[in-house]
Amino acid sequence: MSEVLKMFIDGEWVEAGSGETREIINPANGDVIAVVTEGGEQDARKAIRAARKAFDEGEWPEMSAYDRANLLLKVADKLEERADEFARTDTLDNGKPLREAAFDAADAVACFRYYAGLATKPHGQTYDVADPMQAMVVREPVGVCGQITPWNYPLLMAVWKLAPALAAGNTVVFKPSEITPLSPIKLFEIFEEVGFPKGVCNLVLGPGPTAGNEIAGSHLVDKVAFTGGTETGRKIMQAATGNLKKISLELGGKSPNIVFADADFETAVDYALFAIYAGQGQVCSAGSRLLLEESIHDRFVERMVERAQKIKVGPGLEEGTEMGPLVSKEHMEKVLGYIQLGQEEGATLACGGKRMMHDGLNQGFFVEPTIFVDTRPDMRIVQEEIFGPVLVVQKFKDEQEAIRLANDTVYGLAGAVFTGDGAKAQRVIRKLRAGITWINTYHPTYNEAPWGGYKQSGIGRELGTYGFEEYTEVKQINVNLEVEPIGWFSE
Ligand code: NDP
Repeated sequence: MSEVLKMFIDGEWVEAGSGETREIINPANGDVIAVVTEGGEQDARKAIRAARKAFDEGEWPEMSAYDRANLLLKVADKLEERADEFARTDTLDNGKPLREAAFDAADAVACFRYYAGLATKPHGQTYDVADPMQAMVVREPVGVCGQITPWNYPLLMAVWKLAPALAAGNTVVFKPSEITPLSPIKLFEIFEEVGFPKGVCNLVLGPGPTAGNEIAGSHLVDKVAFTGGTETGRKIMQAATGNLKKISLELGGKSPNIVFADADFETAVDYALFAIYAGQGQVCSAGSRLLLEESIHDRFVERMVERAQKIKVGPGLEEGTEMGPLVSKEHMEKVLGYIQLGQEEGATLACGGKRMMHDGLNQGFFVEPTIFVDTRPDMRIVQEEIFGPVLVVQKFKDEQEAIRLANDTVYGLAGAVFTGDGAKAQRVIRKLRAGITWINTYHPTYNEAPWGGYKQSGIGRELGTYGFEEYTEVKQINVNLEVEPIGWFSE
């Protein structure tokens, strides 16, 4: 077996104190593609101490925004040079088709460039207060940031967190999902190469309940940023209460994709497929509930089924693959469990529903593109995040019912509306209780625009200026321009 891949702590590549390792599996065929060191609480503590020291005593906080920006630009260049390698790595580790992983790599490069640019832009404010005072506000880094990411976008989720945090001058302790650490390891190789000072960027590998929980709970960490499931988000929030650290949480969704009868039919069908089956449905913002106006319901479902059955499912590296395997056997079983549950709850399978075992797929974790109809709003398959290629269809009579159904879950991450009526599109979107919305499209995401959810889909925003501000503290500075005693108390 090849060498054990290590963690990056305090400027050194190190193995876990316990000596434990973990095999990384290709979900397309079950092969072991790498062995990584498996850290725990001790290793996380070591990384946190390094980040604390680098922030409190190191050269990093003294570095100008211009110099920080230059480092980020160098990261972007190196990442771009190795973009194909990163894309292949994410495909091997996560399963997603190569064309999706290539898009993620390009987006990751752009994200570093965006935040390099933002680092040097004006961030403060001044206020016109009563003489002889001058009041101003500056933004400063939060300090040590713990960052915990899931397995669905191994590279991109790392970059969405690391780029703004470093641009703002923080030090970081980053923990990827234990099952998809390979592209984050490569990213830290680049951090080392471009010369971030020792202890500024730390990579901890290991499970959430140990390594991750230590980061969330540590009193030496000033902020924790997390993307993942809502239940884990709740645990992180609880662990963070000890020192009342700042938190940002990007959690699950059950996002509605609303199609009115006056929408362009084929466009709406096309995007409805993209909304749920991109990333095998393992996307927090997936359009996993399709809300159809009654008059087009049957025709729309028929066309969706026809198209879904033609999706080319296979290994992500294979030419022509449109949908890959689920990330792991455990996750595939969870998704199949939901499909079973949906049938028990009384929903009807319009297509799919099974693990795919033919054409050499039997060693991998492939699930058919699946559509449920005849659903009721109270079914668990309608309310809960399945995080797989499983679409549930709901029917509505009019605009009011569409809005009511769309908002009828605990989530509020994303949502879309398809209609030919511009005023109706605006009315419906404004009523959606969700942070990311689209009209006549689904899924486009921009480094420039804020990403995050309402309700139980999260707290705070990533990306854009909003994402940068989440990694800063706001300091008020009041300057007295007439330096003389106030005379409040008698002498
Ligand atoms: P989690 O949300 O549990 O994992 C995300 C990250 O959090 C991983 O790095 C994980 O570590 C870490 N983690 C887990 N438990 C803790 C903890 N107690 N303290 C600190 N960190 C922790 O995702 P799962 O893989 O377990 O998936 C569970 C469900 O969550 C999925 O089925 C899906 O429904 C949803 N999900 C949603 C995502 C989204 O973007 N909305 C992304 C991923 C999952 P590790 O995995 O290494 O142990």
